[in-house]
Amino acid sequence: MKIRTKVTLWYTALLAVLLAAVLAFLLRVGGKLALSGSESVLRSVTEEMAGEVELENGAVETDDDFRSTSRGVFIAVFYQSKLAAGQVPEDLGRLPDFAAGTLRTAGAYLVYDLAGEDGLAVRGFFARESTAESQRGITLAALAAAPVLLLIAALGGLAITGRAFRPIEEIARTAAQIGAGRDLSRRIELPDTRDEVSALGGAFNGMMDRLERSFAAEKQFSSDVSHELRTPVAVIQSQCEYALAGGAEGDVRRALLEIRSRTGEMAVLIARLLELSRAENRTAEVVLEPVELSELAETVTEELAPQAEQKRITLRLCAPEPVTVRGEQTLILRLMLNLAGNAVRYTPEGGEVTLSVSGGKDGAVLAVRDNGIGIPQEHLDKIFNRFYRVDASRHRDGDGGSFGLGLALCKWIADVHGASISVRSAPGRGSEFTVKFPAWPPDGASPGDSGGNGA
Ligand code: ADP
Repeated sequence: MKIRTKVTLWYTALLAVLLAAVLAFLLRVGGKLALSGSESVLRSVTEEMAGEVELENGAVETDDDFRSTSRGVFIAVFYQSKLAAGQVPEDLGRLPDFAAGTLRTAGAYLVYDLAGEDGLAVRGFFARESTAESQRGITLAALAAAPVLLLIAALGGLAITGRAFRPIEEIARTAAQIGAGRDLSRRIELPDTRDEVSALGGAFNGMMDRLERSFAAEKQFSSDVSHELRTPVAVIQSQCEYALAGGAEGDVRRALLEIRSRTGEMAVLIARLLELSRAENRTAEVVLEPVELSELAETVTEELAPQAEQKRITLRLCAPEPVTVRGEQTLILRLMLNLAGNAVRYTPEGGEVTLSVSGGKDGAVLAVRDNGIGIPQEHLDKIFNRFYRVDASRHRDGDGGSFGLGLALCKWIADVHGASISVRSAPGRGSEFTVKFPAWPPDGASPGDSGGNGA
C-alpha cells in the first residue's frame, strides 16, 4: 500500500473515532443540558404565573400579567379540582395526579405542580418534544456534517501528500530509466515547495549532473586515447613491415613477427574502442528510419557463410516474412553481425547457429541461437559491460577480434532504438540472444507518418 494511502487512512480513521466520541459526548451532555434548561424554564414560568393568581371572595382572579402560555409553558390554574384559569395542553391525555412542588413527566410533557393559597393549584406543562426536537436537529446536523468533514480531510490530505510524493515517484521513475541504460541527461522537475522532498530531488539532480559529466569525460577520454594511439601503432606496424622486408633473420625475425601480430591486435582494439566511443558520443544524431529486419538478417547470413563453412557450422535463417522496425540500418547490421559472429565464434565445429526474425503487435523480435559453449549463469549480467570477457581461456591465443567490446556496442545500439537485449544461456548447451524492438508503425499510423527523428 502506498504511504500516502496509509497516512490518509490512518488520520481519517482517527478523525472518525474522534468525531464519534465528540458527538456521543455532545449528545449525552447536550441532552442533559437541554433537559435541565427545560426544567428551569418550566419552574420559573410556573412560579411567576402562580404569583399572578389569587382568590378573592371564593373566585379565582388573575392579574394582567397572567398568561396561559409563556415561553412554551402551558399554565393551568385549578380551584376545587376545576380548571379556573389558563389552559391544559390538548394532547396531554389523562391529567396526572396533583403533587405539589414536584417536577415529573406525564406523557409527552414535563409537569410542575405548585400549591397556591386556599386550595388553589397551579400547574405548568412543558412539551418534552421541543427539547428532544432541538436535540435531534443538532444530532442530524452533526451526522450530516461528519462524513463531509471526513471526506474533505481525506481529499485534502491525499492532495497534499500526492503533491509531496510526486517528486519521489519521479525520482524512482528517473532512476529506473537511468538504470535501464536510457538517458543520463534526464532530470526531475522540481516544484518550488522548498521542503524535504524538493531538497531530495535537488540532491538527486545534482548527483545526476556530476554523473553525466563524469560519464561524458570517460567517453571522451577513451575516444581521445584511442584516437591518439592510432598513429603510433600504425607507425610501429609500418616500421615492423619495413624491418621484416629488410631481411631480418633468426631471433630478430621471430621478435619482429611477434611485434607485428600484437600490434595488429592492438590496431583492431583501437578501432573497436573508437567505434564504440564514437557511437556513444553521437546519441543525439542517430536518425531512425524504417528498416527491414529480414533483409538485413539475410545479408548477415551471407556474410558469415564462409566463416561458418570453415567450421562446418550449419547457419540457418528463419525470417519468413518482412518485418519493419524504426532504426538506423548500419547500426542494426552491426548488432546482427556482432551477435551472429559471436554465435559462430563460440560454437564448436559441426554446431548450429540460427538467426530468426519475427514481427507481431508488440514489436519485432530478432533472435540469434547457437548450440555452442554457452555462458555460465554468474557472467550473464556482466557480458554487456565494456571489456568483459567470460574467461580468457576461451579465447585462442592470437584471437585478435576478442576484446569484450562487441556486446557493449550491441547494448548501446539496442538502447538507442528503444529495444531491449537479453540473453539465455547454459554452459555446454548453447546461448540465445534476443533483441525486442518496439512496435512500428504505431497502431493505426501508416509507415509514412513517422520516422526521421533522433533517438
Ligand atoms: P568478444 O569480442 O570478446 O566476443 P563480446 O562483448 O562480444 O566480446 O562478448 C563478451 C563475452 O561474452 C565473450 O568474451 C564471450 O565469452 C561471451 N559470449 C558472447 N557471445 C557468446 C555466445 N554466443 N556463446 C558463448 N559465449 C558468448
